[in-house]
Amino acid sequence: MIRLNSPLTELKGVGEKTEKSLKQLGLKQVADLLFFLPFRYEEYNNIKDVSNLEIGQFAQIEGEVSLIEGRRGFRKRIHVTEAMLNSNGENIKVVWFNQPYLTKSIKVGDRLLIRGKVGEGYSGPSFVSPEYKKIDNLKINLDKNVKDIQAVYHLNPSLNQYTIRRLVNDYISLANKIPEWLPKNILKKLNLISLSEAIKKIHNPKNINDIEEAQKRIAFTELFMRQLKSQKIKAELAQRKAPLLKFKKEETNDFINSLPFKLTLAQKRSAWEILQDLERNQPMNRLLEGDVGSGKTVVVAIAILNTFLNKKKSALMVPSEILARQHYLTLKKIFSSYDISIALKTRSFKEGEAKKADLIIGTQSLIQKRADIKDISFVVIDEQHRFGVYQRKKLIDENRNEVDNISPHFLSLTATPIPRSLSLAIYGDLDLSIIDEMPAERKELKTSIVKNNKREDLYNFLNKKIKQGEQAFIVYPLIEESDKSSFKAVEKEYIEITKKYFPNLKCEILHGKVKKKEKEKIMTDFASQKIDILFATTVIEVGIDIPNATIMAIENPERFGLAQLHQLRGRVNRSDKQSYCFLLLNEKKLSSKSLERLKILEKYKNGLSLAKKDLELRGAGEVFSSMQSGFSEISLAKIFNYDIIKLAQTEAKELIENDTNLDNNPLIKRRLGSFEKDYHLE
Ligand code: ADP
Ligand code: MG
Repeated sequence: MIRLNSPLTELKGVGEKTEKSLKQLGLKQVADLLFFLPFRYEEYNNIKDVSNLEIGQFAQIEGEVSLIEGRRGFRKRIHVTEAMLNSNGENIKVVWFNQPYLTKSIKVGDRLLIRGKVGEGYSGPSFVSPEYKKIDNLKINLDKNVKDIQAVYHLNPSLNQYTIRRLVNDYISLANKIPEWLPKNILKKLNLISLSEAIKKIHNPKNINDIEEAQKRIAFTELFMRQLKSQKIKAELAQRKAPLLKFKKEETNDFINSLPFKLTLAQKRSAWEILQDLERNQPMNRLLEGDVGSGKTVVVAIAILNTFLNKKKSALMVPSEILARQHYLTLKKIFSSYDISIALKTRSFKEGEAKKADLIIGTQSLIQKRADIKDISFVVIDEQHRFGVYQRKKLIDENRNEVDNISPHFLSLTATPIPRSLSLAIYGDLDLSIIDEMPAERKELKTSIVKNNKREDLYNFLNKKIKQGEQAFIVYPLIEESDKSSFKAVEKEYIEITKKYFPNLKCEILHGKVKKKEKEKIMTDFASQKIDILFATTVIEVGIDIPNATIMAIENPERFGLAQLHQLRGRVNRSDKQSYCFLLLNEKKLSSKSLERLKILEKYKNGLSLAKKDLELRGAGEVFSSMQSGFSEISLAKIFNYDIIKLAQTEAKELIENDTNLDNNPLIKRRLGSFEKDYHLE
């Protein structure tokens, strides 16, 4: 008998090959299959008349094959099958690619049901690679697996939609065996359908309402579990102690007055929130969010100084060696009139003695040796989205004192702009400080797309600006040229361009394969303005702060995501000088979609407005799937519903308050334990 925990190999029609494909999708048991959720739906309109077809619509149509033939395509490797379908006396063309066997299975005179997206052919609408089904001449009724609304799944190339739909359909009745683990009163209060009902409806909706109900239930469950987890972490932290770090007001003010600039109000407010947390004898757990260049480092410095003045140690973990070294130099300078000993520890760079330092800065190498990071009271992680949960947890756990139940204060930094609602959903356990303004002296960064025939102008502009004492980055997608892609490579371009356009300038090249010593020298030379133009790859993407650099030119910008391009352009506009970001187009024609995307960068200057636009265009699923938020695409699509998030939070809080250890809710308790890893039920 097949159960929820039966391996998929026991199912009818799952051979070795299919099993392997399913496994690649993470599907091993029947329950995995049922919890493998469709990411979108196609709504089919049964169209009788060819003349009523609209380009772009999903439609199904019946007709008789009047012609079918296979041939080699224009490009020799492609096989094309072309057919003509007569539907109620009108003809429509159908094309399939690389399915040469079709001419054997479909014959002239067969009746077919065709469904797919209507495309634009030379002579009116056509179907390209549609699904098809032969239908019995006598009874033209639809197959039972064919519905008006069809779920579509994210698959890999070796698996098709038919297979997964058939499997789900064959075993969907097992969904009745899925136990309900949300408390009844919550279901009732929020008018949610049961989990088993939701699973059935999400795969086989009869109408849009079914999809809505099912998605709402599933999204709520994910949000609720996440909020429960956050509330539990909060409750746990509240029971722990942390070193009480007194706010040294006078010294802090002296330090702030010694800075070469005036803090923005947002910086002051954030610093204040952090200092207030440090002064409590409970561990801080806070996220500091601020756009690239908004000045997060100095806020951290204020907190580090206070920690030091309380005779306690701080650690700062960052995602790249170059960034670690930069922070080391910056903080050394900022603290030059204090007696703070600072150590640097990355794979290549080592300065000072980690064990004895008041402040230790490093990459993940930091968490490798326990002795180095002991007795730290204040832990900071810069660009936190670059680290996994494990690395963050390790840095905190290593500094936990189990006997006295003492944990360090913890601060995360990020430039990833997350709308408040989402950050509540994702980081429910973190308190939030936001730097939402730029230093007053900043000009607005100018971003523009540069066509290929305007390159010379750009190089002239660079020469002019550099003559005025400014500096530039040119970023390339590749280090070396590759046969596989036409993207530009930094090594080749560096030689050609410097020779032709910048013969009198000091140019250098920086990428992941440059030797450590040299890397160090190049960064130092660039910072001290001995280098005019840095030809680089994305090694300089995050955090790098060279205020005198005012130009960021990016080759093959279509190769990068919007968020990445925003990070890259964040390397300039870090002073009172006017800065520029140039997106360099290639001779090769860009798709209009790529061009549209780049135009968004021209128009939207700050991270938050850019992120909102990105969300609008791509949808939350795609945007945030790269953030490893742990949410399914369905939930992400629903997540911007602030009300649902709030509801989940309120309910989770109440549950934890009444049943702290979840002893009265054993199913939730068990789920929560494995929530990070897997979400479904055995
Ligand atoms: P990010 O938030 O991207 O980490 P940084 O902390 O590196 O930004 O700061 C960017 C630049 O702005 C640095 O050169 C820093 O010295 C400078 N800066 C920070 N705060 C201010 C301010 N209030 N006024 C002027 N410049 C500032
Ligand atoms: Mg930074």
